[in-house]
Amino acid sequence: ASTKPQSQRSDLQGHVDALLRELGVNRAHYRDGTFRVHTPITGETIGHVQETSASEAAAAIEAAHTAFRVWRLVPAPKRGELIRLLGEELRAKKEALGRLVSIEVGKILSEGLGEVQEMIDICDFAVGLSRQLYGLTIATERAEHRMMESWHPLGVTGIISAFNFPVAVWAWNSALALVCGNSIVWKPSEKTPLTALATEALVERAVKRFRQEGGVAPDGLSAVLFGGRDIGELLVDHARVALVSATGSTEMGRAVGPRLAKRFARAILELGGNNAAIVAPTADLDLTLHGIAFAAMGTAGQRCTTLRRLFVHESVYETFVSRLKRAYASVTVGNPLQTDTLVGPLIDAAAYRGMQNALDAARAAGGAVHGGERVAIEGAADAHYVRPALVEMAAQTGPVEHETFAPVLYVMKYSDFNAVLEVHNAIAQGLSSSIFTNDLREAEAFFSARGSDCGIANVNIGPSGAEIGGAFGGEKETGGGRESGSDAWKAYMRRATNTINYGRTLPLAQGVKFDV
Ligand code: NAD
Repeated sequence: ASTKPQSQRSDLQGHVDALLRELGVNRAHYRDGTFRVHTPITGETIGHVQETSASEAAAAIEAAHTAFRVWRLVPAPKRGELIRLLGEELRAKKEALGRLVSIEVGKILSEGLGEVQEMIDICDFAVGLSRQLYGLTIATERAEHRMMESWHPLGVTGIISAFNFPVAVWAWNSALALVCGNSIVWKPSEKTPLTALATEALVERAVKRFRQEGGVAPDGLSAVLFGGRDIGELLVDHARVALVSATGSTEMGRAVGPRLAKRFARAILELGGNNAAIVAPTADLDLTLHGIAFAAMGTAGQRCTTLRRLFVHESVYETFVSRLKRAYASVTVGNPLQTDTLVGPLIDAAAYRGMQNALDAARAAGGAVHGGERVAIEGAADAHYVRPALVEMAAQTGPVEHETFAPVLYVMKYSDFNAVLEVHNAIAQGLSSSIFTNDLREAEAFFSARGSDCGIANVNIGPSGAEIGGAFGGEKETGGGRESGSDAWKAYMRRATNTINYGRTLPLAQGVKFDV
């Protein structure tokens, strides 16, 4: 229960009510349910959403399968029209949905709005893609034959998403899945059901307009299942679900991956990261400081791509790290809806405890911890605001080897470039990475086969803040999945290799003779 005055509580609740009304969400859907929704801004309750029962979830998946059988026959560019309309709905409601993201997750307003922009961007991308979905034509060894590949819709696509990008991750998956001819069933994080309700309301509006234009959009094409791990497992285990794209912790992926493999279903796993950057002797330190401050402290350290390990060359260590410490001490921590705030709250008490445990472990391992303490914000006694922590470590040991989903940056000194590359890669995950350098040899080596082993590698840009045009994802315990741009769409389709004989004889491949 909140200890704040009633007036403050109703202010934020009133704000949420107004946003959900604007987004077209029925009040009963967020007021009368069984599980509590809280805002990390104050810790207060802002809604109660009804959990989906196992039988309702199974019915939604069956309905999605029936819808798939119709949707797969709708020409892809027409499917793209539905996504174009969804993009229009998102553009019209960007401000409202962006604010709701900020309230439900606690990210600063520009990041809440940025998240919705990302949804719009992937819709644009998917609309273009809907006129492509191309296969190759391949040279064949047989005369008067043609060989090609075709890409076909796959089936029901399950989407499991994490709290920290409550709607963008859904959009990356669903915009592609829908233009690829699949139906979608979404299990959002149990921490962020309000933004899921709002997103589904926008989908319903787009579907309605699509039908008014004469488009065929079957019932059950898009569904949302509310609940936690149990309902996620039901989606993972259901035989009708052809692909599950699951975003969250490595622990979650370790549970989900084998279950999908057991029934030979497809998986896109987008799991945790322990991302690093190298600051080389030639780095432009002003640019580096900006890049690192955003990557390490932005979103209060709660991005999968957040910078968590920093290797600074000994020749610039004192100069750079003292500047970085000043940035850490001065960054504005507070209510994310206020425009001067750069760092909002942690999602909940468990995240705060996780951060403090990591800092204790760092101290025990000989680390020098700067910051990391709880910050008191008026009217938010139940919330968890922290000053981002910068921890100087002698080596990559103890908590440095694990992802702690909070703003903790471990800083280490290095002297040899080749050695630091090895240390950079010597952790379990492989999501995102950066080097700050003006040395062409170092930059290219970082991109090379012996360089960063991550799915994302950058030069003179921090590891966080990807654009949707590129494929997004990482290696090793990050799960290996790719979403968003480039050819990530292929994971949402099945490939058929087609050979046609337009001659009058039947030569067999590899010169095999079989004359009957
Ligand atoms: P989480 O693993 O606790 O939960 C993620 C989702 O998985 C939730 O919807 C949850 O209900 C569901 N889930 C959990 N266990 C499950 C199971 N056994 N079966 C089915 N579903 C299950 O993660 P979180 O705390 O919401 O998010 C933070 C984590 O997500 C971090 O590790 C972060 O790095 C990662 N993340 C990765 C990416 C990426 O693209 N690689 C993006 C965002 C977040």
